[in-house]
Amino acid sequence: MSKIVVVGGGAAGMFAAIAAAQEGQEVTLLEQNEKLGKKLYITGKGRCNLTNAGDREVLFAHVMTNPRFLYSAFSACDNQSVIAFFEANGLRTKVERGNRVFPVSDHASDVTAALQRALKERQVQVRLRAKADGVVCAADGERRAAGVRLAGGEVVPADRVILATGGFSYQTTGSTGDGYRFARDVGHTVTDLFPSLVPFEAKEPYVKSLQGLSLRNVRVRIRDGKKLLYDEFGELLFTHFGVSGPLLLSASAAIRPAQAKKELDMVIDLKPAMDEEQLDARLLREFAEGKNRQFKNVAGSLFPAKLLPVMLALGGIPAEKRVHEITREERAEFIRLMKAFPVTLCGVRGFDEAIVTRGGVSVKEVNPSTMESKLLPGLYFCGELLDLDAMTGGFNLQIAWSTGYLAGACAAGGEASIL
Ligand SMILES: Cc1cc2nc3c(=O)[nH]c(=O)nc-3n(C[C@H](O)[C@H](O)[C@H](O)COP(=O)(O)OP(=O)(O)OC[C@H]3O[C@@H](n4cnc5c(N)ncnc54)[C@H](O)[C@@H]3O)c2cc1C
Repeated sequence: MSKIVVVGGGAAGMFAAIAAAQEGQEVTLLEQNEKLGKKLYITGKGRCNLTNAGDREVLFAHVMTNPRFLYSAFSACDNQSVIAFFEANGLRTKVERGNRVFPVSDHASDVTAALQRALKERQVQVRLRAKADGVVCAADGERRAAGVRLAGGEVVPADRVILATGGFSYQTTGSTGDGYRFARDVGHTVTDLFPSLVPFEAKEPYVKSLQGLSLRNVRVRIRDGKKLLYDEFGELLFTHFGVSGPLLLSASAAIRPAQAKKELDMVIDLKPAMDEEQLDARLLREFAEGKNRQFKNVAGSLFPAKLLPVMLALGGIPAEKRVHEITREERAEFIRLMKAFPVTLCGVRGFDEAIVTRGGVSVKEVNPSTMESKLLPGLYFCGELLDLDAMTGGFNLQIAWSTGYLAGACAAGGEASIL
């Protein structure tokens, strides 16, 4: 029986341990926290969007970095295998808008509970508060991984070691980036790390005054000079520092980090369902209902209350002006503002607010069919530690499950089924 040590009790590490133990190997899972899956509890706003039920093409299309590396991992364990695994381990799941899969209970804690049941059933030895400090190489001259050194100096011997220490974001959950150091220490390249799925800071003071305002069904376009970098419909949230919400989080993953650092021009189309002509007709209809009304009272019916003062300040029509005095040019300028509300983006927020880390252990040095290191036999990588990241929608956890499963099954020397 081989001894396999998994470092990191997040989604990838737990799945790796379960897959390896299924093969009948002796598996130890080391986790520095006092409990397993600390990040899982906060995923999907506490509901855990555990995967995406879209087809294989959808999975690949939503992986932003190195999707091709994932062919074997997604073949070995796709989203349907993940759903079947959880259902078999007592977690009922449901599919919501955008094929997002959640527990029926809406509790992320139930996802961790299902994983813990599976770990227990397969007799994985879980060691909590066990902080790894590095990978130990064989002392007999042969170059291979032979164990894990803990922070106190103890060495946990192993025939194979799986690193699943996560990325560098939301470090309070335990993803403090230790695994990057372990990988570098044995010769691996770690690509540059950037926060991804992260909000943007904005320059204009009026943006801060909109803090807390959420706009649904708007269109956002982001440009670097003349170059269009991003153009999507969806939901946006103003914050005390800038802009967030699904549209901006996705923008941070879609735009290259070097570009995201620059000042970028964003325009928000507040009324994407209407063209300028239709908007003009709408304004005129509103005006006709009371020719002596002041513009601010009419405009109030077009936007959320919080947005109105900013629209009046930027729109070029004096707030007190009677609507029958408003000229065609003034209307046109105001409509231009409705179709292109300007916000200057000036960089993304930090890792503490990033859903995922972009960058990580270079996949060029990892065998995509097994997740084994090409540099140090017996060492495996999985999860966010690798240079892989995806959009929101359950895709990042799918990466963790798939790579974790493949690493565990291959480290255990088999092609086990976890179901
Ligand atoms: C707020 C938030 C919401 C999210 N929501 C979703 C979502 O709904 N759907 C989705 O698909 N993705 C979501 N993600 C992303 C997803 O959670 C991660 O991509 C995924 O959990 C990564 O799993 P992992 O196992 O690779 O790493 P992690 O979950 O980070 O696990 C790594 C583990 O390794 C441990 N560890 C680290 N160093 C050591 C060491 N030296 N010794 C011992 N243990 C160590 C850590 O304590 C940690 O438990 C979200 C992320 C965040 C921050």
